[in-house]
Amino acid sequence: MHKAYNFRLYPNKSQQTVINQTLGSCRFVYNYYLDRRIEAYKTVKETLNYTKCAANLKELKKELPWLKAVDSIALQQSLRDLDVSYKNFFQKRAGFPKFKSRRNNKQSYRTQMVNNNIKVMGDKLVLPKIGAVSFAKSREIEGNITSVTVKKTASGKYFASVLADVHTPKSLKVSSQKVGIDLGLRDLAVLSTGEAIKNPKTLAEAERKLQKMQRELSRKQKGSKNRNKARIKLAIQHEKVANIRKDFLHKLSTRLIHENQVICLETLSPKGMMKNRRLSKAIGDASWGTFKQMLLYKADWYGRTVHFVDRFFPSSQICSACGCRNKEIKDMTIRQWQCPHCQALHQRDINASINILQQGLVELGMIA
Ligand SMILES: [Zn+2]
Repeated sequence: MHKAYNFRLYPNKSQQTVINQTLGSCRFVYNYYLDRRIEAYKTVKETLNYTKCAANLKELKKELPWLKAVDSIALQQSLRDLDVSYKNFFQKRAGFPKFKSRRNNKQSYRTQMVNNNIKVMGDKLVLPKIGAVSFAKSREIEGNITSVTVKKTASGKYFASVLADVHTPKSLKVSSQKVGIDLGLRDLAVLSTGEAIKNPKTLAEAERKLQKMQRELSRKQKGSKNRNKARIKLAIQHEKVANIRKDFLHKLSTRLIHENQVICLETLSPKGMMKNRRLSKAIGDASWGTFKQMLLYKADWYGRTVHFVDRFFPSSQICSACGCRNKEIKDMTIRQWQCPHCQALHQRDINASINILQQGLVELGMIA
């Protein structure tokens, strides 16, 4: 199953220049070979198919070296597009191929994924020959990117349509299980079943290494070669950490979606954020946001329900056994407590996750 994602691109000046060159070169190649094909048919009744055109393009590039400055896959794609136009014409699905005009309101070119040449790095989209382009990352791309169409509007705005191959989900049997999740810092998540989910050790190790590299970088002299080296090393490590985290969150979200028909969480950023702002900023923000997103779209795939309870719901302070509220539990350091009303013993996070589940089911109208 293919899924298309549309993003606004914000290329810098030099990236804009290369994109514009690519648009122009693709148009040129398309028109040039359309002309060649018409001529070949007129004069010698020969059909120049894609293979012949592609072979000829190599020769043409020697004559017109500016064609080498742009994405070669995009140029080949123009030839394929031309071939498709011809096929459509022959099969009476469309009129005879038209020459492309530079005055067309929408200019675009398409390029294919080859050897990981297209990828998302943070808030940048890496495109062949263009480099890392800033883009409005409105959502995560799921699955494997197969191609990207870069478009330029008449008003000079740039967009990318990213096509990804998303694995087709098998339908799941309805589950009778429901779970509440308390997201935190101590443990990544505590489930209403009592299970505490910790971040993997590999992640903690990679993060420690990252912090060490950050300190090392700050000691290097500005503008020095060594500083540049350290910066590259740091960027690679950042990516490593992000990949480990993403992989872990994928596995966890898939597992939770498979096991449960209903998943309830809090909208609010996890408790404890105030206490350790820097840590939570670095580790938490990205993880929790990504995790919630993953749960949402996987729920959509598999017909599960993910519900966020009201942000002012005091999940930690309510006794999940009798429902009375104990305001003393606001104190984050209290990990265990006994309900003064019904004497039930509580683990702070497990109690909270049970309450989140209960509240979620009430809000969903599944219990009174
Ligand atoms: Zn109680």
